[in-house]
Amino acid sequence: MYQKANSRGDSPVTIIGAGIAGAWQALLFALGGHAVTLHERSDAAMTQSTSHWAGGMLAPWCEAETSEPVISRLGIRSLDLWREHFPDTPFNGSLVVAHARDRSDFERFARLTSGHRRLDARALSELEPSLDGRFREGLFYPDEGHVEPRRVLPELHARIVKAGGKIQFNSDIDIAKAEGTVIDCRGLAAVDAEPELRGVKGEMIIVETDEVELSRPVRLIHPRWPLYVIPRGDSRFMLGATSIESEDSGVSVRSALELLGAAYAVHPAFAEARILEFGAGLRPAYPDNLPRISIEQQRIAVNGLYRHGFLLAPALAELTLGYVERGAIDNEVVRCR
Ligand SMILES: Cc1cc2nc3c(=O)[nH]c(=O)nc-3n(C[C@H](O)[C@H](O)[C@H](O)COP(=O)(O)OP(=O)(O)OC[C@H]3O[C@@H](n4cnc5c(N)ncnc54)[C@H](O)[C@@H]3O)c2cc1C
Repeated sequence: MYQKANSRGDSPVTIIGAGIAGAWQALLFALGGHAVTLHERSDAAMTQSTSHWAGGMLAPWCEAETSEPVISRLGIRSLDLWREHFPDTPFNGSLVVAHARDRSDFERFARLTSGHRRLDARALSELEPSLDGRFREGLFYPDEGHVEPRRVLPELHARIVKAGGKIQFNSDIDIAKAEGTVIDCRGLAAVDAEPELRGVKGEMIIVETDEVELSRPVRLIHPRWPLYVIPRGDSRFMLGATSIESEDSGVSVRSALELLGAAYAVHPAFAEARILEFGAGLRPAYPDNLPRISIEQQRIAVNGLYRHGFLLAPALAELTLGYVERGAIDNEVVRCR
């Protein structure tokens, strides 16, 4: 059984992996007064992490379409933590739109989710003038937010240091040699200790155009994948994301065609956009696609964040901290081995 630290700061906390899961763990433990060291095998650009490729949507209501209620519960708690620790996080909501032929899937999406209101064509174009005349109606989820992963990860890392934590980049640490309480946030690389983990490929494209302006993520109902366009500032947009049972990290022609086609379906001006980047990340997932905090003596594994790393990482960090400090166990997420 895990030995609780006697008091804050008297047992070192070693966190492995500075992706979104490990970064939030390190931040909340450092703010809690623990002696935190965060090890990351790649450099500060974090290109080896899945988090580098993510959309960064904080969308607990939209995600309810395909997820268990626990994702929405933890996601809604995470929104509070994002607001509290990063008050500049944009909470402009999300939009869901569909073309007439996908009307039944649109109605299904509306039925399976809550926290939205219906917009007619006029209200839609008031909200996003670039979409004027494009869609007859939409669903607006006003309380959802989004972060830009490649901006927010360095911000999180800086905040950890400010809170008294240490970060060591280029530190490919052997977990067996790590000191004190060890929080394993290695994502898919933890498959040696978490054999049930698998990678689910998500492909994305970044394009640039001055012809379209969006203030929030726009999801296009699509029969196979939840395709979306996320504004990234500086006339850039992320087009995402496929969801493929494969651990190959390349981008296929078919996926590229579908992502670009979805952007074109949202707005034809995307046809003239400049393609800046193609990429793919492997989402770490357990067989049930739900996150787990697994406790085995002094090792705590936080993994399986799947499609929801940015959405869930703050709430998972709060749960881990609650366990270490008070022995609190959230039965839906924590597993003691
Ligand atoms: C295309 C795409 C779009 C997505 N969109 C969203 C979205 O909109 N919203 C959302 O919430 N989620 C989204 N996700 C999911 C999200 O990206 C993942 O859930 C999340 O990144 C997983 O984070 P992690 O910290 O567990 O893993 P990672 O980000 O992979 O971090 C693990 C880190 O551990 C490091 N590491 C591994 N081994 C070692 C070692 N021995 N020593 C030191 N460091 C080590 C790795 O280098 C890596 O940096 C998306 C994913 C993809 C691929």
